[in-house]
Amino acid sequence: MENHTRLANQNHRIVYFGFLHSRIVAILMYCSMFEESRAIVSQKLSGRSKKIQDEWKRLCEKRNVVPGQQFHLLLSGRELSPEALRRKVRRIATPKRVTPNLKQPSRSPATADDMRLLEAVQEFEVESGVLQSPEVEISKVRRKLLQESVSATTSASIEHDLEAPSTASRDTSDTLTVLAGWKKTLPDVDHKWISETFFRMGKRGPEFDFTKVSKLWYQPPQPSLSASILNKPDRYFAHRFFLWMPRHLFHMDLVCPQEECNGKLTNAGVHQKTRMVLDVDSFYNMAGEYLSCPKCSKKVISWSEGILRQLDNTSRNQFPCILTSKYACDLRVVRLLRQRTLGNSSSAVSKVIEEQHGEKYVTSLESYFSNCKSFQSSAHRGFFGIPHFQRPPPQPPVPRHRWFMKVYQLDVINRLDYIKASITSQFGAILKMDSTKKITNKLAGHGRKTAMWATNVGNEYGQILMSVLTEGEGASLRPMIEGIMSRYEKAAVDPPQVLYVDRDCCGPATVHKYFENWPNISIRLDIWHFMRRFPSGCTTDKHPLYSIFMGKLSQCVFKWDEDDLQLLTTAKREEMILQGVVNPSEKDVRRNLSSTELALHCKRVTRGTEETQTLISGLIQSLDGPKGCDTLGVPLFESERIAEVWRVQQQHVSCIQDPEGVHLYTQTGTLKKGGVSLPVYRCARGSTSLESFHLHMNRFIPGTLANDINFQVFLLDGLFRWNLDREAAAVRTDTRERCPRTYSGPLKNSVNKLSLEILGEPFFGDFRPPGMYTGELIGIEYLYSQTGKGFFNAIQPCGTRRVAKTLKGFGCFCFVEEKRIYRFLWNAIAAFRFGTS
Ligand SMILES: [Zn+2]
Ligand SMILES: [Zn+2]
Repeated sequence: MENHTRLANQNHRIVYFGFLHSRIVAILMYCSMFEESRAIVSQKLSGRSKKIQDEWKRLCEKRNVVPGQQFHLLLSGRELSPEALRRKVRRIATPKRVTPNLKQPSRSPATADDMRLLEAVQEFEVESGVLQSPEVEISKVRRKLLQESVSATTSASIEHDLEAPSTASRDTSDTLTVLAGWKKTLPDVDHKWISETFFRMGKRGPEFDFTKVSKLWYQPPQPSLSASILNKPDRYFAHRFFLWMPRHLFHMDLVCPQEECNGKLTNAGVHQKTRMVLDVDSFYNMAGEYLSCPKCSKKVISWSEGILRQLDNTSRNQFPCILTSKYACDLRVVRLLRQRTLGNSSSAVSKVIEEQHGEKYVTSLESYFSNCKSFQSSAHRGFFGIPHFQRPPPQPPVPRHRWFMKVYQLDVINRLDYIKASITSQFGAILKMDSTKKITNKLAGHGRKTAMWATNVGNEYGQILMSVLTEGEGASLRPMIEGIMSRYEKAAVDPPQVLYVDRDCCGPATVHKYFENWPNISIRLDIWHFMRRFPSGCTTDKHPLYSIFMGKLSQCVFKWDEDDLQLLTTAKREEMILQGVVNPSEKDVRRNLSSTELALHCKRVTRGTEETQTLISGLIQSLDGPKGCDTLGVPLFESERIAEVWRVQQQHVSCIQDPEGVHLYTQTGTLKKGGVSLPVYRCARGSTSLESFHLHMNRFIPGTLANDINFQVFLLDGLFRWNLDREAAAVRTDTRERCPRTYSGPLKNSVNKLSLEILGEPFFGDFRPPGMYTGELIGIEYLYSQTGKGFFNAIQPCGTRRVAKTLKGFGCFCFVEEKRIYRFLWNAIAAFRFGTS
C-alpha cells in the first residue's frame, strides 16, 4: 500500500514535470519505471524497427544501395507518423549529393531532437531526484547517440566534437594529413582543422589541395555552446590562418626576382613551413606558396619582397605583416609602435601586447574549463563515465621588447623611400632655423658625444623641411643649406622671402653668406630669442619686477593693429554685457582681454628700429638702480651687466623688425564672440613653432638613450608624422572636413585615383603626393658625413656585394663597424627583402 502511494506521488510529479517539459518525456519516463511497460516499449520499438527494416531492405534492393549511418538514427525511438516515416526513408534511400559545408555547423536534425529530449530527461531527473532505474537506460541511449554522432563526424564533417567516454582517447594525430614541415611549425591545436580544411590524402602521403583555396583568411571552428557537447581545447585555442598565394589567388603572372633573369614563375606547391604572426591579441599562422623559376631553377616564397614588389597596390595591401627571422608581426601591432608620443616605447607596446594576449588566453581557458566542468557534472550524475579532459595548450610567448624595436626599424626601413621623399618635398615662403642641444644627449652607442647640435629648418605652417645633427653651428650647416636651395631650384619653387634664425643674424658670422643663390632673402632674428638675452642682466628671475620688465619689453617691440583691437574690444564688450556686466567702460573691457584672445584675433606689428631703441632704453633706465629694488632692497638689474647686454643687443633691434612687404598673418577662419564675427589669424613670425617641435622631438625618442640606428629611425618617422599633422592643421578650419586618419601616402594616393574614376572626385581632397627624394642627408646621416664615418667603408670587407647594394638602396645606416648591428641589419634586411628565414 505504502509502495502504491509512493508510486502515485511519483506518478503525479512525473505528469506535472512532463507537462513542464514535454508530454513525450513524461510518458517515456513513466513507462520506463515498470518492468512490464519497459518490455512493451521495447517490443513496440523492435516491432517498429522491423517494419522500417523491411521497408528499407525493399528500397535498398530496388535501388541497389547499401544501408548507411543515417538509417540507425531512424531507430532512436521517436514517434513518427507513417507518412513522415515513409518520406524519411525515401529521402535517405535517395541521398542528395551535398558538398560538406566546412564553416557552418550542421547537425542532423534527428540528433538534435534526440539530444533535446535527453536534456529534458536529465533536468527532470535532477528535479525529481527519485528515479533510479531509468538512468541506466537513458545513459545507454545517450552513449549510443554519442557514438553515432562521433562516427558520423569522422566521415565528412569536422563540426561535431561530441566525445563519448569510449572514444575519448581516440588519437587524432594518426588520421592527420598535413605536410611534415607544417606539422613542425604549426601549433598542435591547429593541426586538425587545418588538415581538414586544406589537405587530402594522396598516393604518396598528404597533399595540399589547391582547389580548396579560395580566400586569404580562414577561421578555426568555434566551440559549440551547447552544454551537452564537450569541446576539445582546439575549439578554444586554435589560431586564425592566413594563406598568401598571390599567384593562385590573384591569377597574376609573376617573374623571377633574381637579377637579369625575368623567368616566368611557375607553381612549385605549397611552402614547407608556416610562420607564426604576432597580432594584437593572439598569434595567427601564415602559409605561402612556393614558386620556381624554370630559367634559373631557383625557388622563391610568395611573401618575399621580390614577389610583393610585383603586386599592384590593392593586392600588396592585403599582405598583413612584416617578417623577421623568427616571428612575423602584424601591421596592426606595428601601427601601435608608430605613434610617437610620450611613453610610447617599444617596451610599453610589448607590455600592452602581452596583456592583450594574456587576457585572451585566460578568457579562452575559462570557457574551456567551464565547458569541461558542466560536462563533468553530467558525468557525476551517471549519464556516462568521466571523460578524459585534455590539457589546454600553453600560451605561445610574446616576444621581448627588443624584438618590437627591430620590427619598428624594419617598418621604417620599408617606408624609408616614401618618408624621405615626403620630408624633402616640403617648402615654405617663410623659413625658420633653430638649433637645440637637448636631444643630442640622447644619442648613445656608436655616435655618442659626436653631435653638438640638432638643427631644424621649418616653414610658416610649422612643418619641418630638414633636421640634421651637426658637430657645430655655422659653417657645418652649409651642406644642409645648399641642399635646401637646390631643392627649391629643382622643384622650381620661388625662394623664401624671410628666414628667422636664433643667432648669427648679422655681422661677420651671419648665415646670410651661405645663401648665395638667394641674395634677396632677409635674415631676421627671432624676437623671443632676442628677448631671452636680457635676463642675463637681471639679478634673479624671481624678482617681483622681473615679469613686469619682460612684459614691458615685449610692448617696446610690438604694437597691436588698431582695427583688429577695436573689433575685438567691441566683441568683448558685447560678450560682457551678455554675461550681465552693466555698461562696462573701455578700460574694463581692455583689462578683461586675455593674451590668448589677443593673439588669436589681432595682428601685431613691430614698432620700427628707432622707436623700439628709445623705448627699451627708457625701460631699462626706469628700472635701473634703486628704482628697481624690491622691498628688501634687491635691485632688478646688475647695472653694468644690463648696460653691456643692451649695448650688444642694440645693433640687433633692426634685425627683429618685420620684413617689408611680407604678409606674416594668414586668416584661417572666423569665430563669433558676443554676436560679433572675429577673424582668426595664424602668425608666421619667429621660430616659436620650432621650439614646440624641439619639445616634441624629445618625445620622438623614448627613454633617455637611443643608439644611432634607433635614433635615426625615430627621427625620420617622427618628422614624417609631425609634418603630416601640421599639414592637416594648415587647412582652413571652416573648410576642413574630417578625413579618416592615415599616414600612408601610397594608400591615400591609390584611393584618390580610384575615387576619381568612380565618384569623379578625390577622396582625400588635400592630399598631394610627394616628389622624388632629393638625396639630401637627414639626421644622423648628416652628422656621419661630417665626422668622416663613411657610408660603405665598413661594409666592404665583411659584406657581400648584394648587402652593400641593399644598404645603398636604403640610403642610410652606414656605421656597420659594430658586428652586432651589422648582423642584425643583415638578418633583418635579408629576411625582409629576400624572404629567407
Ligand atoms: Zn630565375
Ligand atoms: Zn643682428
